[in-house]
Amino acid sequence: MVRDPRKKRLEKTKQQEQKGPSMAQKAVNFAKASAKHVSSGLKSVSEETKNIRLAICNTCPHKVGEENNPTCNKCGCFLNIKTGWASQACPIGKWGTGEKTAAKKTKRSGGCGCGKKKT
Ligand code: SF4
Repeated sequence: MVRDPRKKRLEKTKQQEQKGPSMAQKAVNFAKASAKHVSSGLKSVSEETKNIRLAICNTCPHKVGEENNPTCNKCGCFLNIKTGWASQACPIGKWGTGEKTAAKKTKRSGGCGCGKKKT
């Protein structure tokens, strides 16, 4: 029986997406996000914007983990931290940087620097 290698690759990619990033990738993503936060002057968003971002994440199928310490399965970031940093954006464009809470329409994900493309 010959199996289509493209189909096999696609299945593997889907499985990896469901598992989320590895611990090593999460560490890299967090380091990039932290560097971006520091280089942007450690700016935070208002409590209102953070709550709007968290509300968006609460409806997202990529939100995983405990209710009081959720993480994003796309980038692996801790949402309670990520949603408070002005330099951060959702890796799939559900919310933008700064006080922008609307979807960001750019080619790059921006976000935490994880490099995930919009799906
Ligand atoms: S950051 Fe974006 S992808 Fe991640 S849980 Fe929130 S809305 Fe979903």
